[in-house]
Amino acid sequence: MPEELVTHFKETYYDSPAGKVALVTMDNGEDYRKPNTFGFGAMQSLNECLDRIQAQGDVKAMVLTGKPFIFAAGADLTQVPQVKTKEQAMEIARAGHAAFKRIIDLPFVTVAAVNGVALGGGLEIALACKYRTVASSVEHIGFPECFLGLIPGWGGTTMLPKLVGPEKALQVIIYNALNNNRMIKAKEALDMGIMDRMFEPVDLLDKSIQFAVDLVLGKEKVERPEPDWSNLDSLLEQARAFADSKVHGNSRAPYMAIDIIAKAKDNTIDEGFALEDEALGELIPSPQMQAGAYAFDLTQRRARKPVGVPEGQPLPVRKVGILGAGLMGSQLAVLFLRRMQIPVVIKDIKQEFVDRGMNYIQQEINRQAEKGRIDKNRVPWLLSLVEPTLEYKDMAECDFVIEAVLEEMPVKKQVFGEIEEYIAETAILATNTSSLSVTEMASDLKHPERVVGFHFFNPVAAMPLLEIIKAEKTNDPTLITAFDVGKKLGKRCVLCKDAPAFVVNRLLIRSMVETIKLVDEGNDFKEVDEALWALGTPMPPFALLALVGPAIAMHATETLAAAFPDRYFVSDNLRELVARKKPGVYGPDGEVDPEVREFWKQADPPKKATPQEMRDRVSLALADEAWHMLEDGVVGAPQEIDICMIFGAGYPFYMGGLTKYLDYAGYSEKARGKKFHPED
Ligand code: NAD
Repeated sequence: MPEELVTHFKETYYDSPAGKVALVTMDNGEDYRKPNTFGFGAMQSLNECLDRIQAQGDVKAMVLTGKPFIFAAGADLTQVPQVKTKEQAMEIARAGHAAFKRIIDLPFVTVAAVNGVALGGGLEIALACKYRTVASSVEHIGFPECFLGLIPGWGGTTMLPKLVGPEKALQVIIYNALNNNRMIKAKEALDMGIMDRMFEPVDLLDKSIQFAVDLVLGKEKVERPEPDWSNLDSLLEQARAFADSKVHGNSRAPYMAIDIIAKAKDNTIDEGFALEDEALGELIPSPQMQAGAYAFDLTQRRARKPVGVPEGQPLPVRKVGILGAGLMGSQLAVLFLRRMQIPVVIKDIKQEFVDRGMNYIQQEINRQAEKGRIDKNRVPWLLSLVEPTLEYKDMAECDFVIEAVLEEMPVKKQVFGEIEEYIAETAILATNTSSLSVTEMASDLKHPERVVGFHFFNPVAAMPLLEIIKAEKTNDPTLITAFDVGKKLGKRCVLCKDAPAFVVNRLLIRSMVETIKLVDEGNDFKEVDEALWALGTPMPPFALLALVGPAIAMHATETLAAAFPDRYFVSDNLRELVARKKPGVYGPDGEVDPEVREFWKQADPPKKATPQEMRDRVSLALADEAWHMLEDGVVGAPQEIDICMIFGAGYPFYMGGLTKYLDYAGYSEKARGKKFHPED
């Protein structure tokens, strides 16, 4: 377990026309990559700092700020695995409350000058001050707790609703957190009334001190509208329904936060804090929060430093070729343009396909400029970097060529064979295949060592995962360059063995096979969807089938069934769905398509399963498959499986991706008599 990296509170004093001002800086002595966090050491440092300030006896104002780019990022989550009991958890809760309460009770003006990231406990310490200023550049303000399986329990659930009312508090604490941990920027925080003043970053400290002085002198006054509590019941009801739609009761955190927000108006600060102590006492040792802390650590640390990548310099990538201007090819072009801003040649087999791809690229680049994600002035230049073509020869200068043509081995092999005639010997050939063998794809080439799997997920812009596949002959420079490009494209890269369907699709399809089996046996589509969605996955399985497309799902299942016939098979009903070109099992009205109901053959007599039996079957199948993947060496450790499921399939933090959930719910042991994480 890592030692706490202690955030120190250090003060300096200024004389001002209003008297002595204490400027307190929070700093853990590291650069911005290791943000200030709060553990017991930090709380002790804060208490000592407050002792010294109070001992001065004549301080008239305190201004609290952070280190460059970071105000404070909240509790030190690396310590969470050590917390095993409710009593230990409540001790943490009380330590934070006691220290923050001292700030609340200071008998003089206190201003938090929020200069950078202010999350969780970082935002709570700012709320404990009487006033808050913020630098206009700050982009990360929020309460991620409910996303992790916690509540903002160092005062956030009590102080924020008291300050801005229940609607805005629910927005930040529940809606934003459960919407994939959305954060707010300085201006939004100002508009919501969380911040009192916004200043340019260079002026923040000077102006915040001046603001504090003027408040003491009575030259400044902060007017805050009275929070509106009139609509409380319906706001709470909506928030609970929203939490249901996101966590289905699997994580208690959002419901507990809503309950405390509900009472914040009438509770005193002490009463609110006592409720928070209780809630943290329950939540921190819970398996969901332990999984949440594990997932947080995975995504913050392990996923940033991919495991198994050889050491060495990447080859330069100055021009990219994309084969196939379809759904994936055109999205890849946009990604390369946005992130790497290098020339992109995109090829298809017919002019109309190329034109369709180019249309998409133009529209998407313009749309992103409209949204402010791309500088509008750069749009013409970015678009000038794309070269549509029908000819391989136009890719002669590309040092990195990725294919996104049809998911058929003969087509892929042909395309690679043809392009190899035109490109330099050192140019890399990447494939976006979802399930085919990269080794086989490279087998007839003159230089199979330059071939690598580069598996993106649809929609490319939104899905952070990139599975990078090392084929039998892939050499180190190719692999190093693939990881370098993946990183430049802003993706989280995981190294996988060349095994059918790699990681995410192999697991999702195993659960899909089991799901379809449940319907084939006589259960109803909607009952199955509802029962399995309650596991915590981002969408019900038949919605996922529609999103992926039945044809693609069937292709991938066929590949897996050929490799692992004992565990995967293609249901005749799925074949029929694809043959009839149905986009899914539901119609546009959300009801089962009558034609699907008509042709879908179910067992007679039906073999009905209860919702719990359905969840057991799918969870056990997932546990079995995850074990197989580790036994086969598809990835090196359960952590990589979890990174893939979080970033590639949107599995929630409170499941720890997948393997933590399988452990705490008992399926890992049922499958193999042991846990994925025996240390827990
Ligand atoms: P798509 O059918 O939309 O596009 C494929 C394109 O390739 C078509 O425009 C086709 O005309 C073109 N093409 C065929 N032969 C070609 C050739 N010789 N040279 C140049 N272009 C050629 O398919 P897609 O959904 O974009 O999938 C492409 C690849 O990406 C597949 O391997 C698929 O498995 C993989 N993939 C798809 C998804 C997804 O969700 N659709 C996700 C991840 C990976």
